[in-house]
Amino acid sequence: MHELSLADAIVSALVKKCEEEGWGAVRVVNLRVGALRQVFPEMLRFAFETLVKDTPLSGAALEIEEVPLSWRCGECGSVWAEETGVCPLCGSFRRETVSGMELEIQSVEVEAP
Ligand SMILES: [Zn+2]
Repeated sequence: MHELSLADAIVSALVKKCEEEGWGAVRVVNLRVGALRQVFPEMLRFAFETLVKDTPLSGAALEIEEVPLSWRCGECGSVWAEETGVCPLCGSFRRETVSGMELEIQSVEVEAP
């Protein structure tokens, strides 16, 4: 269950940020998670809600944007989003990940103290 350690890392980072920036309260946390991270949003949200109790993030909503997987062909440069390993244009197996590895806090909505 890596959602728990992921939520723990997010909450720890934001609690630290609250102290540094003097935020009153955090209302919304916008997170971007790529498909390749294999995160279950409901489990992540549950872990987050459990961990924020008794912190300045208590009551904050966790918004999770799931970023779909996409590939770029190493031969012809075309980009495709389906989860197929072969370039639909030229049939090449050479590919690189364009999106799907994201794991970042996009933005945070806070209240002044
Ligand atoms: Zn191609």
